[in-house]
Amino acid sequence: MVEAVVGANWGDEGKGKITDMLGEKADIIVRFQGGANAGHTIVNDYGKFALHTLPSGVFYQHTTSVIGNGVALNIPLLIKEIQGIVERGVPTPKIRVSDRAQMVMSYHILFDQYEEERLAGKSFGSTKSGIAPFYSDKYAKIGFQVSELFDEELLKEKVVRICETKNVLLEHLYHKPLLKPEDLLEELHGYRDMITPYVCDVSAFLNDAIKEGKTILLEGQLGSLKDPDHGIYPMVTSSSTLAGYGAIGAGIPPYEIKKIITVCKAYSSAVGAGAFVSEIFGEEANELRNRGGDGGEYGATTGRPRRMGWFDCVASRYGCRLQGTTDVAFTVLDVLGYLDEIPVCVGYEIDGKVTEDFPTTAKLEKAKPVYEVLPGWKCDIRGIKTYEELPENCRKYVEFVEKKLGYPITMISNGPGRKDIIYR
Ligand code: GDP
Repeated sequence: MVEAVVGANWGDEGKGKITDMLGEKADIIVRFQGGANAGHTIVNDYGKFALHTLPSGVFYQHTTSVIGNGVALNIPLLIKEIQGIVERGVPTPKIRVSDRAQMVMSYHILFDQYEEERLAGKSFGSTKSGIAPFYSDKYAKIGFQVSELFDEELLKEKVVRICETKNVLLEHLYHKPLLKPEDLLEELHGYRDMITPYVCDVSAFLNDAIKEGKTILLEGQLGSLKDPDHGIYPMVTSSSTLAGYGAIGAGIPPYEIKKIITVCKAYSSAVGAGAFVSEIFGEEANELRNRGGDGGEYGATTGRPRRMGWFDCVASRYGCRLQGTTDVAFTVLDVLGYLDEIPVCVGYEIDGKVTEDFPTTAKLEKAKPVYEVLPGWKCDIRGIKTYEELPENCRKYVEFVEKKLGYPITMISNGPGRKDIIYR
């Protein structure tokens, strides 16, 4: 049985917490896209952790953590992350890395920085982790696949070719130091030595596990609105954030993904540039930001303050639809307990017309939010274990959102910890 945990919004919905929680009953947890550019924050018995490459199930001894072929693999960061959790008392995790995953090279990170510098004010708000240059190279067919690390002749020839093309840009576009083939070869040898113990044919491993009846969780990074096809292009990430891509980025049959748990957060937050219709500003935003998440809405990787907004039914319904949602996990509901009234964005006004359909980017830029205001519940709901015990106005908020989404909210997260969950 394969289940996916994915985001409905702009990322940071709390997927890490939901995956960590569901990991208790899973055998294998797989990252299938993205890289070390975003992060999950997880609070459990070992402490508070920010994970960037490892899947969120890495804290359990009974699970195997898998890095699928769809991931942008930054080997030194992966190794550092493994060491970092082991040093803090987590048992050494079982890790498998796809021999078909491609590697983020040091020059991808440099190109990301150089391009942001060049674009200056017009930048896409990249985290400068090399993700966009990495995926560009993958699709330009000049990336390095893990399997290639074990073919010395191929590497020797390929580093020369890569330097030729990259150096044209470095010299003439960016005016930066050039790459040397021997340095790249040395970098690749270092990666080979670090990654060898973990490499396997992940697709075969997962297909065997499916036949054996194992439970596999696919953990998505970011959310629907950052998908390169269906998101707010060009302010998107470089690999698909949708559950459907899980089949490709892990190498499993699409029809095996039986459950798609879309994580939706009770208010909105976003990082980077791009239209954000229900965005709020000033004191109102500061208060929500500082009360939000677990210790404030600041990026897990970058520490950047997140942009804040009210719940957006238009964007979230679209986000759930694109994921193919079977279940919605509604998170950080506890955070809203301080508000007298809670605005919810129920429509977009574009050129004088109100719509409930999420538009393409140029129209989205013109959209103004249409709000409905719901009464708050003015109390702390952390620690509550059943839906019936939630205050009436809180239940009304959940039911209002559920109706607007059109997908069942089967889980409500009312705190950052593993046990802070209400099943419906
Ligand atoms: P992800 O990338 O989707 O995994 O999300 P992040 O880890 O970036 O953001 C989620 C943040 O909210 C983390 O700091 C979590 O510990 C925290 N969190 C998750 N669920 C809840 C919740 O229900 N209530 C509160 N207060 N915090 C939560």
